[in-house]
Amino acid sequence: MCIVLALVTTLALVVVAFQEAESEGVRKVTLRYFGHATFLITAPDGTTILTDPFDRSVGYPMPDVRPSVVTVSHEHFDHNFVQMAKGNPKVIRGLKDGGKEWAQVKEQVGKVTITTVPTYHDGSKGSHRGKNAIFVFEMDGLRLAHLGDLGHVLTEDQVKAVGSVNVVMIPVGGFFTIDAKEADQVLAQIKPPIVIPMHFRTEATASWSIAPVDEFLKGKANVKRVGHQVDLPAELPKSIEIWVMSYK
Ligand SMILES: [Zn+2]
Repeated sequence: MCIVLALVTTLALVVVAFQEAESEGVRKVTLRYFGHATFLITAPDGTTILTDPFDRSVGYPMPDVRPSVVTVSHEHFDHNFVQMAKGNPKVIRGLKDGGKEWAQVKEQVGKVTITTVPTYHDGSKGSHRGKNAIFVFEMDGLRLAHLGDLGHVLTEDQVKAVGSVNVVMIPVGGFFTIDAKEADQVLAQIKPPIVIPMHFRTEATASWSIAPVDEFLKGKANVKRVGHQVDLPAELPKSIEIWVMSYK
């Protein structure tokens, strides 16, 4: 009798442990924000991606990071300071020829697939600010898009190329990029459940002619202040949520 009971108990414990391990293994993606368009994304397999690193002149404190990969949406100082990354990361640039042309990015790093979608930095086919690359990171069944310094609403082809995304990091500050109103239009095009605004003015970039994030948040429901670092939940929100991150 005792042996049967012990066996049943052991079995139950094994099942519980297995379920826990399984749920822990599901979609553990962590995002950390350093300001402007710079995030550190940690994938479930441990691959770390630093996006669009700013240089010292931008105004944010320099983080201490040693990522596996650095991505650069375009070759402007507030997005391509790859020296921010310590160690020996793989650098993936969305543009080539010093920023003049789009690179055809399709890279696999660890279990993360990284692709780009060609776009422009302004609303006149790049004649003012040049080209820009949207980065799409695919990991463990999740797709995250970093829009770089997108300067226009998307074309039908670009919407198709971006595809279905779970998380989007989108510029909202205007002047150099799409503004709050255009960001709304882009979000209506790609409909991600989680929206993370970026490239807005803060006390660290007080002299920049970009709008603060409040412009974008005006009249919006489901705004969450998630802090400097956040984990994606195993179950994604059913309707759109705006996650405002802080740079420290
Ligand atoms: Zn910029």
